[in-house]
Amino acid sequence: MLKRLQSLDIGIALILAAALGSVVFTVAASSFVYQNTKNLIEAEGWVEHSQEVLNSLQSASQRLDRIEAYTGLYLATKNEDQLIAARSNVVSLSTSSTRIRSLVFDNAVAVQEVTALGACATRLAHDLERVPETGKSPQTNILKCRQTLGRMSEQERTLLKQRTEASRERSQRSVVTEFSMGGISLLALVFLFGFLIRDAFRRKSVAILTNRTNSELATTVQQLHNRAEESRLLTDARDELQLCTGLDQVYRAAVSSFARLAPATSGTICMINNSRAMAEVVARWGLDASMVEIFVPDSCCSLRSGRLRWREIGASEVNCSHFLNDAPETYFCLPLVAQGETLGMLFLTPNDKDSIEGVRSREDSIRQLAELTAMTIAGLQLRVKLENQSVRDGLTGLFNRHFMEIALERELARASRSKSQVAMLMLDVDHFKTFNDQYGHATGDIVLKEVATVFEAKIRSGDMVCRYGGEEFAIILPDVTVEGAFMTAERIRTAIAGMRLTSGLAMHSDLSVSVGVALFPQDAENSGDLLRKADAALYRAKHEGRNQVVLA
Ligand code: GH3
Ligand code: MG
Ligand code: MG
Repeated sequence: MLKRLQSLDIGIALILAAALGSVVFTVAASSFVYQNTKNLIEAEGWVEHSQEVLNSLQSASQRLDRIEAYTGLYLATKNEDQLIAARSNVVSLSTSSTRIRSLVFDNAVAVQEVTALGACATRLAHDLERVPETGKSPQTNILKCRQTLGRMSEQERTLLKQRTEASRERSQRSVVTEFSMGGISLLALVFLFGFLIRDAFRRKSVAILTNRTNSELATTVQQLHNRAEESRLLTDARDELQLCTGLDQVYRAAVSSFARLAPATSGTICMINNSRAMAEVVARWGLDASMVEIFVPDSCCSLRSGRLRWREIGASEVNCSHFLNDAPETYFCLPLVAQGETLGMLFLTPNDKDSIEGVRSREDSIRQLAELTAMTIAGLQLRVKLENQSVRDGLTGLFNRHFMEIALERELARASRSKSQVAMLMLDVDHFKTFNDQYGHATGDIVLKEVATVFEAKIRSGDMVCRYGGEEFAIILPDVTVEGAFMTAERIRTAIAGMRLTSGLAMHSDLSVSVGVALFPQDAENSGDLLRKADAALYRAKHEGRNQVVLA
């Protein structure tokens, strides 16, 4: 840029110098031409002057001829008229000499000669006066006059020749000089206009360059603005997702962020279920309703290929089959993957052709938001799993002993405040060791799970079933009477005794549980005592023949 400015400055200085030079040169050339023309006219004047002098000399010479002729005729004829004519020509000669004097007054030699001619004419007039007396022609003076005229003519011819030569040389010089000046003027003009044209072209190319730079700058600014907007939207989405405590919140936050990041689009978030046999739409945005609610994961091309897939007319003709009717013309599906596991899929379709470019330009950000969503979902799922692991038993899904102890304290405190009763049921599967020995440990596990299912089916919604350890269970029944607690225990015992295994095993009619029941505050004042009382009642139930309920 600096270089260009410097070259522009040099260009301006050159144009100014050329313009100034042209003006000076034109003025000088004009005055030279003026002077030259003046000199030429002057030289021409001198040539004309010489010619006029020569003409006068010639006419004087003719007068002399006539004087001689008329004098000869008079002498031959004695006719007075001839003499008069001769005398008249002498007068004319005298007049001519006066005129010639006026023409050559600045030439000393010529003035001397013309004075001699005048004197000769005077003498000739005198001679003619005396011709009738002498009867002789004035030949001597005529000759002298003629000689004078001859010398003068000779001198004037020499002068004329010199002047003509000088005038010719001057006009030749003038032509050469004027042509050279014309050439130089033309060169100066070419030089000046060359600069101006070059400058105009440079100006034009600088203007084009400036326009191009400006439009590139505007595009870059727009791109930066878009990037900043995308970055802001992504940051907002990240903040929003971090606040979510449940999956429903994540889905809602994610679709609203997708809708803002990709305006004029519609889409859905679909999650694959635990068995991985189905995928289900969990949230949607926009007007498009082409997606089915539930579909098999294999019906989505992106889930089959494991990567983002655009479907566009002309570019890809293979459609996913998770649509209610016709698939949209343009859409993409993107697997939602976190820690190597595919959790679900994002489906997005532009609402019209104009918004396709916008989606394409923000594809990276959409991918990032999808990754963020998948990570958040995976994080929440992991948290739920860990929470379950800390309070739930891994085999049966029932609350574990640790949770039971905390829950029991809480229920006893609540019962104390509300003056209600809490029942503690201790249950133990009868002869389970024998069962294990007979059918194997794996079958024993299945039976324990089914027993747990029966327990949960036979209690009220606020009651809590816990796996106390091994094949022992504890059930907390808040806000209950002795009768109510006994009847619940009986219901459970009867159900286990009549249980039919659903896992394809042979029926085992000998499966049963023994139950010990103790009540707070009736049998014990704290949780430790209550557990001991219930355990003691269970021990009695075992001792008295098993498959029975014993109250503490
Ligand atoms: P009782 O009627 O006196 O309760 O006899 P029992 O055989 O049930 O009692 P015991 O305490 O002698 O044996 C308990 C058995 O329960 C021993 C153990 O192998 C089995 N058991 C404990 N936990 C599990 C488990 O998680 N899975 C399986 N399959 N068996 C278990
Ligand atoms: Mg036991
Ligand atoms: Mg047992």
